[in-house]
Amino acid sequence: MDSLEKAKVLVIGAGPAGVGVATGLARRRIKPVILIDRHEKVGGVPALYKKKAGGVPTFVLWTRGRLVFGEQIAERLTDELRRTDVEIRLESQVVEVSPRQRSVIVVSPSGGRVQISAEAVVLACGAREKTLAERGWIVGSRPRGLLFTKNMLDWVDRQGLLTARTPVILGSDVIAHAAAAKLKSARASDAVMVDRFSKPACRIAGRLYFGRWTKPAYRQGAPAVSVVGGQSVSAVRLVDGTQISCDGVMLCGELVPNSELALMGGLQVDLAGRRLLVGSNFQLSEPGWFAAGNILGDYHGAQWCYYNGRRVARHVAKYLSRTGSRSQ
Ligand SMILES: Cc1cc2nc3c(=O)[nH]c(=O)nc-3n(C[C@H](O)[C@H](O)[C@H](O)COP(=O)(O)OP(=O)(O)OC[C@H]3O[C@@H](n4cnc5c(N)ncnc54)[C@H](O)[C@@H]3O)c2cc1C
Repeated sequence: MDSLEKAKVLVIGAGPAGVGVATGLARRRIKPVILIDRHEKVGGVPALYKKKAGGVPTFVLWTRGRLVFGEQIAERLTDELRRTDVEIRLESQVVEVSPRQRSVIVVSPSGGRVQISAEAVVLACGAREKTLAERGWIVGSRPRGLLFTKNMLDWVDRQGLLTARTPVILGSDVIAHAAAAKLKSARASDAVMVDRFSKPACRIAGRLYFGRWTKPAYRQGAPAVSVVGGQSVSAVRLVDGTQISCDGVMLCGELVPNSELALMGGLQVDLAGRRLLVGSNFQLSEPGWFAAGNILGDYHGAQWCYYNGRRVARHVAKYLSRTGSRSQ
């Protein structure tokens, strides 16, 4: 039998959006608020981007006229949470949601399996990069050395290992450019960037920024590619038969909302884009369920997500006061 706990509000995801919601609720003196994340740190995606001495400052934000980097954003969010009485549960994965009962099942190494019910639940689970199958233009085997951005960051930043000396990046958006710069600063050669669009998907400002660290070679307009390799990646083959030799392939960008929990729970999701169906007050198809940040599917930077979290907190507070007055 699962142990049972209660909270006023449960926030799933301690990235910029989830922290925005939790601190927004704390400012309104709403408690207890439990903030859950499967990672060991607060900060979501920005927390994955370390800025090393001499390394490339990837994941950047302009805020109050200054450049701020991924790790610094995560530290700010952590500090802000420390000044509240939000209960933070890290290394805790939400594995099931029951919208009607307004409860979730959380699994963690320290706490085991726990059921938590709340008056309101906010999904702030972010977005993820599309899988190979979802992209639909990349075929071939899945040899060692085919990695998503997240895996690459883990290797390079956390373990100090270089994923590829001669990388090919499939994708050409800002995430792809950040990945190319990160690899170059870890002593890889400039990446070859292959994408199906006729022009790089990253805006000129992003290309200029990352151009200080890396000058990728572009192979745009590839309708399909095949990853070649036995045990390890050895090349990427284009439709015209050209092979680009490499020792690692990164699959970058092409985000999709992390809406799997909502889908599993029966909340309404547009299956084509995997977007949650939300009202103007960020409420989902079941009363008391809300969403914030990049799970909404518009893919904004960290700062937007944080302030969006604050807006969602306002709507959650209104919902609580409405339902509270009804039950009195
Ligand atoms: C690979 C990648 C690179 C990116 N690079 C940039 C960049 O360089 N610059 C930029 O501005 N934006 C970048 N983005 C966009 C980035 O997602 C946003 O800037 C911002 O981090 C979104 O905030 P969020 O809080 O909505 O989601 P996230 O930051 O993704 O946080 C979501 C959190 O939810 C947690 N979570 C998800 N599901 C569960 C679950 N079931 N149980 C428990 N916890 C869960 C995750 O562990 C995560 O910590 C990138 C996104 C990705 C995927």
